[in-house]
Amino acid sequence: MHTVDVVVIGAGFAGLTASRELSNAGYEVLTLEARDRIGGRTWTDYRLGHDLELGANWVHWVQPHVWAEMTRYSRGIERSPRAEEAYWHGADGKPRQGTLEEFMALIDEGQQLVIDDVREAMPRGAEPTVGRIEELDHLSIQDRFDRLGLASEAKAANESVWVGHVNAPLSEVGLSSALRWVAATGGHWQLMHEASATYRVAGGLKAFTAAIASEITGEIRLNSRVASVAQSGTGADAHAVVTLESGEQIRAKRVVSTLPVNAIGEIAFEPELPLAWRRQHAERVASQGTKVWIRVGGHVSRFFAYANQNDPISVLKAEFYCADERGNYTILVGFGPDHSRVDVDDIASLQAAVDRCRPGLAVEEATAHDWMADPLSQTTWMTHRPHQLTRDLTELQATQGMLHFATTDNANLWGGFIDGAIESGLREARRIIDSLPRPQRRSGS
Ligand SMILES: Cc1cc2nc3c(=O)[nH]c(=O)nc-3n(C[C@H](O)[C@H](O)[C@H](O)COP(=O)(O)OP(=O)(O)OC[C@H]3O[C@@H](n4cnc5c(N)ncnc54)[C@H](O)[C@@H]3O)c2cc1C
Repeated sequence: MHTVDVVVIGAGFAGLTASRELSNAGYEVLTLEARDRIGGRTWTDYRLGHDLELGANWVHWVQPHVWAEMTRYSRGIERSPRAEEAYWHGADGKPRQGTLEEFMALIDEGQQLVIDDVREAMPRGAEPTVGRIEELDHLSIQDRFDRLGLASEAKAANESVWVGHVNAPLSEVGLSSALRWVAATGGHWQLMHEASATYRVAGGLKAFTAAIASEITGEIRLNSRVASVAQSGTGADAHAVVTLESGEQIRAKRVVSTLPVNAIGEIAFEPELPLAWRRQHAERVASQGTKVWIRVGGHVSRFFAYANQNDPISVLKAEFYCADERGNYTILVGFGPDHSRVDVDDIASLQAAVDRCRPGLAVEEATAHDWMADPLSQTTWMTHRPHQLTRDLTELQATQGMLHFATTDNANLWGGFIDGAIESGLREARRIIDSLPRPQRRSGS
C-alpha cells in the first residue's frame, strides 16, 4: 500500500493551502481531488465569450488571509463596474429607477439597524462566538428585519440586499451571518458591501490557485474521489487508510478533509464523524441559492438592480461589456435565493426574472454551475442557520484523532469566503506540523 505522511482530500483553497504548507515543511503530501481540475468552488471558465467566475468572484484587502496570498503570488485586482443607475421595487412592488446615491440613502437606516448591536454581539471579528451572539443566535435575519419597523419600500430593498449577500431565504439564515460579515469589517456595513462584491482577482481565480499549486512539491492527483477514511492502530502504529472510489488505498499518518459540511456525508468515516459534523450535515447549512451569468443584447448602462427577496433573481448587475460577430453585448451577474428556481436553458423564464429586476433588457443566453446539485459541494458560500454558529463552530474545528478538518465552513474570520478557506488550511497545517515529527530533510533539500 502506498504510504505518505499526509493525505489532503480536496484541492480548493483550503486543501491547496494546507498541502503547500505541509510540503514546504518537508512532509510527503498527497492531495486527492475528485474533480478534473483544482480550485473547488472557485472556477474560472470561458463562457459567453469571456472568462467568467462560476464560483467565487470577489476579494478585498480587509480579508487578511487572502491578501497575504495575493502578495505572495503578486496578484492584482480589477474593479467590477461602478454602477451609474440603481433599480429596486417601490412600495407598489413595481421596479423603480434612481441613482446609486438614492438607493444607498433608501437602505442606509435598515442596513445599520440590522447590525447595530454588532460591537456587543460580536466584538471580535476573528472570534465569532465571543460576545452576546449566543443570546441572539436563535434569530434569523428575517426575524431582525421584521422587528425593525421599516417602511415597505426600504424593507424590501434591504431584504434583497441581504439575500444577495447570504444566498438563501432570509428566514433560514442566522442573524449571526450578518453580524459576522460586518464584524469582519470593523462594524462598518458599507465596507462589508465593498469587501464582498467589488474587486476581482486579475487573471482570474484559476491563475491564483495554479500559483499556489505550483509550490506544492507532492502530487496533486485529479479525478481521485475518496470513498472512505478509516483510522486504526495506536501509538507508533496509528495510521489512517484512505480508500478511493477506484479501490486504491493510501496509508497516511494524518488526513485533512476539506469537504464542506453539506458534502462530507459522501465519505464514510471510521470512527464516525464527531456529533457537530453529523448534526450540521443532516440539517444542512443555510446557503442554497444560485449565481447566474446572463448575456443581454447591446451595451447597457452600468447598473445594479434589486428585485424582491422572493424573486428567482433578487440581485442583478452589469459586469462585462463585450462584442462579437453578433454585435455588442453585456454580461450580467445575478444572484437568487433558491437554485432550483433558475434554469439557464429556459430563456423565457430568465427574461421574466430579469424584467423583475431591470426592465428593457433582451436576454440572449445564460450560464451557471449548480453548486447545490453538485455532489462535491452541495453548497455555495456557507451561511449558517440559526444556532449553528455558536453551537457547533468550536467542535467543527477540533481534530478527531489523525483526522483534521480544514474548510471555509469552520473558519473563524471570513467563514464562507476564500479567506476562510485559506485560514482553515493554515490552521490545520500548523496543527499537523506541531504534532507530527518532521521527516528527515531529503538529500538536496
Ligand atoms: C457561486 C459562488 C460564489 C462565491 N462568491 C465568493 C466571493 O465572491 N468571494 C469569496 O471569497 N468567496 C466566494 N464564494 C465562496 C468560496 O468559493 C468558498 O468559500 C471557497 O472557495 C471554499 O474553499 P474550500 O477549500 O473550503 O472548499 P471547496 O472549494 O469546496 O474545496 C473542497 C474540494 O474538495 C473536493 N472534494 C469533495 N469531495 C471529495 C471527495 N470525496 N474526494 C476528493 N475530493 C473531494 C471538491 O471537489 C473541492 O475541490 C463563492 C462560492 C460560490 C459557490
